[in-house]
Amino acid sequence: MFLSITTTGTPDRPATDLGYLLHKHPEKAQAFSTSYGKAHVLYPEARPERCTAALMLEVDAVALVRKGKGKGRGGAPDAALAQYVNDRPYAASSLLAVALSGVFSSAMRGVCTARPERATQPLPLRIEVPALPARGGPALVRRLFEPLGWTVVVEPVALDPQFPEWGDSRYVRLELESATLTLAEALRHLYVLLPVLDDAKHYWVSDDEVDKLLRAGEGWLPEHPEQKLITSRYLSRRWSLTRQAMERLELVRLAESDDSEVEEIDNAVEAETEEEARPTPLAVQRRDAIIAALQASGAARVLDLGCGQGQLVQALLKDVRFTEIVGVDVSMRALTIASRRLKLDRMGERQASRVKLVQGSLAYTDKRLAGYDAAVLSEVIEHLDLPRLPALEYAVFGAARPRTVLVTTPNVEYNVRWESLPAGHVRHGDHRFEWTREEFRAWAGAVAERHGYDVEFVPVGPDDPEVGPPTQMAVFVIRTEKEAKAA
Ligand code: SAH
Repeated sequence: MFLSITTTGTPDRPATDLGYLLHKHPEKAQAFSTSYGKAHVLYPEARPERCTAALMLEVDAVALVRKGKGKGRGGAPDAALAQYVNDRPYAASSLLAVALSGVFSSAMRGVCTARPERATQPLPLRIEVPALPARGGPALVRRLFEPLGWTVVVEPVALDPQFPEWGDSRYVRLELESATLTLAEALRHLYVLLPVLDDAKHYWVSDDEVDKLLRAGEGWLPEHPEQKLITSRYLSRRWSLTRQAMERLELVRLAESDDSEVEEIDNAVEAETEEEARPTPLAVQRRDAIIAALQASGAARVLDLGCGQGQLVQALLKDVRFTEIVGVDVSMRALTIASRRLKLDRMGERQASRVKLVQGSLAYTDKRLAGYDAAVLSEVIEHLDLPRLPALEYAVFGAARPRTVLVTTPNVEYNVRWESLPAGHVRHGDHRFEWTREEFRAWAGAVAERHGYDVEFVPVGPDDPEVGPPTQMAVFVIRTEKEAKAA
């Protein structure tokens, strides 16, 4: 059984930090005893640019049976033989998940004393599992991982490559990629979803499995569209436990939605105190500026890329000239809050036909985004690591190619005017960068040049004579009419 985790690095964030995050030194191959055999951790590659950690589990089939817990598949009359002759030693499965939580337990909890700040930040991740038993096949694999922000490549493994007519086996080769998750989140996804896909837990499911599931599912399971399937399979279809888990997940969800409202109120209060001299909070001024620019562009079908909790989508819905509004975000949690804010489930049919919320990452080309009049990226680019920005640039300006693109981002020069902001700090913990006006203009100018757009800049908020406005907006318009029609 084999699983590998790869990350890439930048000069100030070397990929080899993966060793700190996993608490396993890249230069040592290490072995750990687990109840079912030996687990090995080694690094096939450990360079500042790229680092791969591999987890291998040598399953001791006899130990598995001696534990008295090795269920053969299906409990058929040949179960006794199946205990010894089965796929357990070779395929990634629930055993690998157990090894994962044993060997990387601190990493799974997001604990990293050597690099505490990196443990809380998303990083580019690529996970490969060459042989994964997947009941439900590639389609289910996608339904489980994609809502969590993973780009999924999943290929069925043929029963025997020499005899393609025999068809596919129960196994898939899985490749996951994401740049929006922390390592702890990624490990917790695997810890839950590998056994869910395997759907043949090797050990007895006891009551504390519900606790384990809720702990590992924190932050993602309460909002997962396949929550019920995950819960029931994880708990080996023990209905009383499943029901208990579902009830507790619902409580978590409600508690979280309360939190988010508190957060919003806090933000509003903060925004108002920060800008007490001005009547309207900056977020509202930004929204108004965006809507005005969209109206001026004549757009009817609009994408809100990185829509967050859906405030702009909600405002656009009030204007009938916007006939189709699509909010896209990588965060399921944000989309769930957006959908509650919009009351999507209670909306009349006509109104509902104008709006859609879709989960997706802007760091990847997405066919669903083609053919719109305009796209908005409001306070989104600064949430991406700089090396990921070209990917977003291509996805929006190269592939989707709407006629108009609006991009807003903080003007870092203005930060000296926020009295509450300590010098040298960005405005939000998740901002990867904040640009001066010149830096933003240089980026936007180059993007426009590369993709055949014209670009103009609009200040949002009071335009300070020295440091400029708090928010800067670029308005991109595609160059030729011909292209506009084709798009
Ligand atoms: N547009 C909103 C929210 C800005 S916060 C506003 O102006 O208020 C940034 C949003 O971008 C978050 O909701 C975050 O989930 C989303 N985001 C960050 N990286 C993303 C990516 N790669 N793909 C899609 N959305 C992303």
